[in-house]
Amino acid sequence: MSIASATQWRHRRRSWRHWLIVAMLMACAIAHAAPTPTDAALAQTSTIDARLQHADRIKRTDNAGFQSLLAELDANAGGMTAVQRDWLDYLHAWQTGYDGNYPQALIRFNALLARTRDPTVRARARISVIDDQINSNHLVDAYANIESLLDGLPTITDHDAHFLVLASASSMYVDAGQFDLAMRYIDAALAFDHGALSTCIMSATKVNALERNGKLGLDEPAIDDGIAACRDVGETIFANIIRVSVANVRLGRGDVEAALASLLPFDAEAMATGSTALIPPFRATLATAMLRHGDLARAGQYARSAIEHAGVGAHSKAIADAWQVLYQIARKQGDDAAALGYLERSAAAEKSYLNAVSTSALAYQTVAQRVRSKKDQVAALQQQNQLLALKRQAQARSLLAVQLAIALLLLLVGSVALYAVRTRRAQRKFRDLARRDGLTGICNHQHFMERAEQLLAASRKDAREASMLTIDLDHFKRVNDEHGHAAGDAALRHTVDCCKAHLGSDAIFGRLGGEEFAILLPDCVRERAAELAETMRARIAALHDLPARLPFAVTASFGIASTRDVGHDLKVVLAHADRSLYQAKRDGRNRVAVHGAGEPATMMATGNAFDPRDV
Ligand code: GH3
Ligand code: MG
Ligand code: MG
Repeated sequence: MSIASATQWRHRRRSWRHWLIVAMLMACAIAHAAPTPTDAALAQTSTIDARLQHADRIKRTDNAGFQSLLAELDANAGGMTAVQRDWLDYLHAWQTGYDGNYPQALIRFNALLARTRDPTVRARARISVIDDQINSNHLVDAYANIESLLDGLPTITDHDAHFLVLASASSMYVDAGQFDLAMRYIDAALAFDHGALSTCIMSATKVNALERNGKLGLDEPAIDDGIAACRDVGETIFANIIRVSVANVRLGRGDVEAALASLLPFDAEAMATGSTALIPPFRATLATAMLRHGDLARAGQYARSAIEHAGVGAHSKAIADAWQVLYQIARKQGDDAAALGYLERSAAAEKSYLNAVSTSALAYQTVAQRVRSKKDQVAALQQQNQLLALKRQAQARSLLAVQLAIALLLLLVGSVALYAVRTRRAQRKFRDLARRDGLTGICNHQHFMERAEQLLAASRKDAREASMLTIDLDHFKRVNDEHGHAAGDAALRHTVDCCKAHLGSDAIFGRLGGEEFAILLPDCVRERAAELAETMRARIAALHDLPARLPFAVTASFGIASTRDVGHDLKVVLAHADRSLYQAKRDGRNRVAVHGAGEPATMMATGNAFDPRDV
């Protein structure tokens, strides 16, 4: 280390945090390098990982050795993995900060952070960044950084890095006078890592924080737990830091002898550490106790020792206390000039210390305020987002509701339509059923009468001729009797089919009852009707000759009446057709009788007047 950087080093802020982090990083480095290579072992080991870990471990205790190891590692950088190179860069950046070149160190750490994804390197680099920010008095940045590290704490899975963040936050909040907050992270760190070294360091942090907050009780478990844990790992700095706090509490209670008893047996041990973190407070407290004990000479010795060990420009409560002891001694000795000088130094140290505390507190408050307002902004944004989301949901819901309503409506309309169609079909079916004759499928009596009425009305209106045929099967009773009712039904169906084959679509064919039928032919003169009837009659009579058809002979008699002769009144037309039909019956059946003009009934045709029953 150069003389310039050594001076800078002495001018560094001697915060509690700084010493804590030194100890923690050493602890972590040791934990990483398991088993820790001895120098001899290191000479043999050529693995890059082991060398990196060793470098990390010795970087403070043997900075010169560290720098030469760094140069060696640089020569091997070509064969390193990406993570190994990141560690190497980390160590370089660390050395830059250690040399006091904080701006350059920050640039290097930030470049590393921009590149590396390794969580341990990242956490270590960020903690080093915080260290350099504190050392270069960029406290607001440092507090902003620790806040952000804490925000991301759940994602820091690396054990050491996780613990370092908690420990670092603890000490920073102690420095800022945020004792409640500090206590949360101290307890979190204690709960996170139960190792002796971690327990030692975090217990010391806790005891120190409680003392500074005026809340340290002598029954505080962290006192004995911490001292025991420190003893287990041979850690004397933190054990004695705890003892200093205990002594201060005892002094505060006026128990001077107990305060002295807390420290005096450990004075040699404390001095052997050479620690600028421990010796100034240790000796300053001892000086105060000794002053009150009445041993001015030793009090003066301890006070001067505290100041010497703190280094030039250092400021702490301990330094202010030490100058205060010297002031009291000078006053007691009547050396007013010296007393005034000591008082001024004490006031300056106190002011400097309080400045440091208030600067830290201010930095913390600034960050906390920023974080709060950012959180408020985030909360406001979240609320806005929620509102928007709710609105969207509501819109979506109402859209969904509308869509649902439409779907329901469509379904309803569809089902109504379907229902209507089905109903119409059913109605048509029922109506058809109601209109049709079940056996033959032609119009039943009532429907025939309705349609015939309409047709005759239309024919009358247009003065067109329509002819009415009435048909009655001959001796049908006998057919039933001789062949059975089913055969009779079949004969009825065949007869109807036979007639239908000769009828146009405008003819109205109806079963008036039993084996009696009627056909109304529109636009059909009686002569044409007679011809048609004769054809049908002949075909019916011939049914018997078709082997697949009927096993017995069936004949029918036809009566015809025309509107030209009898007018368009249905009942009158029917009556006249019936009269002709009966005439046909009377004339021997199986024949067509036509109601002619002026004549009661005229036999138009007899066809083959074959009547099996008449035979
Ligand atoms: P004709 O008309 O030649 O004087 O003699 P007929 O034997 O046909 O006399 P009538 O009209 O009195 O008898 C009609 C018979 O038709 C009576 C009944 O047995 C039969 N009949 C009526 N409706 C049906 C039916 O739906 N099915 C069957 N199989 N027979 C029926
Ligand atoms: Mg009859
Ligand atoms: Mg009959």
